[in-house]
Amino acid sequence: MYDYDLLVVGSANADLVIGVERRPGAGETVLGSDLAVHPGGKGANQAAAAARLGARTALLARVGDDDHGRLLLESQRSAGVDTVGVLVGEVPTGVALITVDPSGDNSIVVSPGANGRLTPQDVRAAVSLFHASRVVSVQLEIPLETVVEVVRNLAPESRFVLNPSPPRPLPREVLDACDPLVVNEHEARVLLGGSLVSEEPEDWARILRAKGPRSVVVTLGAEGALVASAEGVSRVPSVKVDAVDTTGAGDAFTAALAWKLGTGTDLAGAAAYAARVGAAAVTKAGAQASYPTAAEVDAL
Ligand code: ADP
Repeated sequence: MYDYDLLVVGSANADLVIGVERRPGAGETVLGSDLAVHPGGKGANQAAAAARLGARTALLARVGDDDHGRLLLESQRSAGVDTVGVLVGEVPTGVALITVDPSGDNSIVVSPGANGRLTPQDVRAAVSLFHASRVVSVQLEIPLETVVEVVRNLAPESRFVLNPSPPRPLPREVLDACDPLVVNEHEARVLLGGSLVSEEPEDWARILRAKGPRSVVVTLGAEGALVASAEGVSRVPSVKVDAVDTTGAGDAFTAALAWKLGTGTDLAGAAAYAARVGAAAVTKAGAQASYPTAAEVDAL
């Protein structure tokens, strides 16, 4: 019996957002809107998304002993995430400084802060969480050696889901553990060595799977997604919605996918559900603020 449906190991950031008429160039100062501060980071987003859906979810992450860290802890708890694995230290909470212009284009500077201090030792110290979790989901906003340590500490029956974002080359040990590897087009391109070889996402999925993962999911924005496993490659239908803001849709998709896989749903079925969650998330502004409950997904 597992205590958690999903353990997310990853980043927690405060997103500091300012609206501007025009993003500043080198040496330039522009005036912007009032500052808005939102909880973010791929790890915190995934954990919040899963918990909102009703998954018993824990987060292993690091924040600073500061207002941003408290904001993140509070938002995780109000989403229903167990924060027993969130470590509070002296290094400041990670932040993303975001300027957005009226067309929606943005410029972002990330200070990883405490996320960069989530160590392999932190993973080993949390081994009881790993043994209590059916599925473990990870992204790449934490050090790669920490991701490797996660793979080494998985319980024998638990499942490992990786969204390699931001993308970088991965050791075979990590690739072999993925079931699935979840990529968007940009991440697929980087993992395939900088070029996509083919126009067809089916081909990207097949080639990526040959690099070790037991399964691969490619997300295609408004086009939905596709899944590749030993049974072959299949398309997951897209869900038609009026998109308002796509921020954090990939995190909601991956969290829903990971949770559903843990309940025994097959890959195509889990991805179809995740596509509905991703679609629901784009109908509202923000990342965590846009994440649906299970009832809202059913109503879609
Ligand atoms: P990322 O945010 O990582 O780039 P995507 O944009 O591919 O990821 O979005 C993840 C998933 O969310 C998609 O596979 C799809 O199921 C859903 N989604 C994203 N954008 C839309 C949209 N405009 N309409 C419907 N579903 C969407």
